[in-house]
Formats: sequence, structure tokens, C-alpha cells
Amino acid sequence: MTGSIPIRVVDEEDPSSSDSSAGAASANDLARMMRPGPLQLSALPPLSLYIHVPWCLKKCPYCDFNSHARAEGGELPERRYVDALLSDLDAALPLIWGRTIQTIFIGGGTPSLFSPAAIDRLLSEVRARVRLVPDCEITLEANPGTFERDRFRGFRAAGVTRLSIGVQSFDDRHLEALGRVHDGRQARAAIEEASSSFDTFNIDLMYALPGQDLADLEQDLAQALATPPPHLSIYHLTIEPNTFFAKYPPALPEDDLAYQMLDRIAEATGAAGMARYEVSAFARAGHRCVHNLNYWQFGDYLGIGAGAHSKISFAHRVVRQVRYKEPNRYMEKAELSAAVAQSTEVRRSELAFEFMLNALRLKEGFRFTDFVERTGLSINAIASPLSEAEAKGLLARDLSGAWPTDKGFDFLSDLQELFLGD
Ligand code: SF4
Repeated sequence: MTGSIPIRVVDEEDPSSSDSSAGAASANDLARMMRPGPLQLSALPPLSLYIHVPWCLKKCPYCDFNSHARAEGGELPERRYVDALLSDLDAALPLIWGRTIQTIFIGGGTPSLFSPAAIDRLLSEVRARVRLVPDCEITLEANPGTFERDRFRGFRAAGVTRLSIGVQSFDDRHLEALGRVHDGRQARAAIEEASSSFDTFNIDLMYALPGQDLADLEQDLAQALATPPPHLSIYHLTIEPNTFFAKYPPALPEDDLAYQMLDRIAEATGAAGMARYEVSAFARAGHRCVHNLNYWQFGDYLGIGAGAHSKISFAHRVVRQVRYKEPNRYMEKAELSAAVAQSTEVRRSELAFEFMLNALRLKEGFRFTDFVERTGLSINAIASPLSEAEAKGLLARDLSGAWPTDKGFDFLSDLQELFLGD
């Protein structure tokens, strides 16, 4: 993680990291987080809860998430993992004392591999420990396999309010190339079931797939938008290091074709009444993802579960944490109230870039008051790159805030880089 000051780093592979000392270090960390420091935040930002479930039926060849193939025919350790999550949450409570959770996102991995009963117990126990806002958005990621679709109503009854379905494509050829375990028919059935069980849901769709041309994309779009879903997340397939595709790269569409595909997606979603409110997110009115908005608005999030990341603000500092990644190791550590593998303080000099990296993904950009409140910096800290971005036509502003122009959205990394600093 760039731009961070280590507070305590525990080597995941170091067997000498004693559990009792990790617990003691945690209390020590808390005192360090509360003491005077480089920032003066006038208020703490909204806080969300992220819960990671690290298992999938099989590992997709493009995936670099912390996800692990479920052992063939093996049972998932549902009960033990939920217990570990709750111990992890208990140990983290002092860091968020008195704060209200705005949203919950259960992501993975494939959380829909867990039974509705396990999700019900998890959410009930979370509610017993932290205060949630009324009508708290609670999202669960689900895959479209038949086995999972039959559970959608159970998830709704457990308190999940929003489903995020990993459709990726409706074309069986492309699904096979992506190593997905579902087919187009199952994807359509899952959407139908989600729309009858949930008031709001998301479809994940990927483009620039191996062998995909514009006509293929049109077909995927036509099916995704046949009854426009409340929310659509669009991802450009990229080859990430340490994946199967990095080792055996498939032939992907050229960049020009990928740009044409994205233009086409923007046109078709607009025509279907969906607004592109974030660089990769499209929503009908009233269906934006509040949880993801909080990330992009540089809000706080407590992440529990294997490999989960957190960002938590205190009066005088902003801290990032990472949990142990490997599921068994995570459970062992969480059971000892020592799930945090790494805790780092974001440097004052990096806060402006971290804020802008997120905020510039939003069509509406950000308000200057939020920048000041969430970074503890004066708006002068970004005066020069703001002017440069405006002069290049990448950004527009008024007296209260700034937002990326259409050109800024098209050249988002160029725009973000202007705020990188020296
Ligand atoms: S289902 Fe999702 S999280 Fe699981 S391996 Fe595939 S892409 Fe990764």
C-alpha cells in the first residue's frame, strides 16, 4: 500500500507472531490511534461495514480477488467462519465506538454459497453489536447458478435488501472463456428471480472479452437492458498479475474496439433511462449503490473477513487495516481477536491524492467542504492541480465543488494523476 506509515505489521507467514502479543498490540494500537497527530478532522465521515466471504465454487482465470475454490464435494465451514467474523467484529468495536453503520456489503468470493440461515445468523449478530441506520442498505453478492437462485428469497428474509449478481455475460461462449460455472439461461433466470424477490439489485457485466466483437456486445446489452435493471456495473476485462490469464493470456479486443464498446454501453444505458453516476456504475433513479458511493466519497469502512481492508478515521489520523488473507489462518487469528495483519496510517501528504482518486470516479465529483472535512487539509492543497485539470478541459467547477467533464471521464487516469503530487 503506497503512501502509508506502518503502525504494526505482522508477517502472515511468520509463525513466531504470537497470538497473545497480537492482542496486546491491538490495545496499544488503539491508544496510538487516539493520540494527537498530524490531522485535525472536524467530523468523522459516514461508516460502512464490509464482510468478506472468501470461497467460490472454482477460481475464475481472470480473478485476482481473495477467493479460494471450495474443495470438491467439501462443506464450507459456515458456522466457524461466521463465529470468526463475529469475534473479528467484537475486537474491532472499540475503533468504531458510538458510530452508526450506514450500509453493509457482504462480498467475496461468492457469499451466496452460504446458506440463508448462516446469513441470517450473521446479520442478527451484527445488529446486536452495532447500530444500523433505519432502512440500512444490505447487499449480498450472488452468482447466478441454480443452486444459489433457489436461495434468493431466503437471503431477502434474512434481511438482505439488495442483491448483486455476477452475470458477466449472457453468451455461453464467453462465459466458458471466462471460466464461469453458469450459462446464459441461468443468468436470465437469476435476474428474473432477483427482480421478483428484491426491490433493488445489481447486474455485473464485463466487456472486451476474449473473441468478443461489437455485435456480441450488442446482444449482451440487449439482454441486460431488456427490462432495465435497477443498477448495472460494467467492467472492462483486464489481465491482472498472478492470475491464470496472466500466465496464459487470451486474445482480447484491441483498445479501439474496447473504447467503442464502452461508448455503446453509455449510449444504450442512457437510452434505457439509466444514469452513469460513476465511471463503471449505471443506475435508474433512486437505485444508486449507497455502499459504493461511500467508498468513492472517501467515507470510512470497517472490513471484516479474510483479507478484508478497512479505512477508519480518527480525530487526528486516517488508518488503513488489512485482515489475514488465507481463510484458515484468518479464522485462527480472528478466534484469538487478532485478525488484523497490517495496520497503517495514511500520510498527510497522500490524503489529497487518495481522496481525489475516489471522488473523480463520480460524475457529480465532490464538494470542497467534503474534501476539507475528510482529509483535514485546506482546499489550497489541491488548488494547483484543480486549475491545471480545468485548463486541460478534464474538470469543471463552481464555488462549492468540482466534477470530471466528459473528457475527464474518458481520460480518468490522466486526470487522477494530476493530483499525485511530488
Ligand atoms: S466467482 Fe467472482 S470472486 Fe469467485 S473466482 Fe470468479 S470472479 Fe473471482
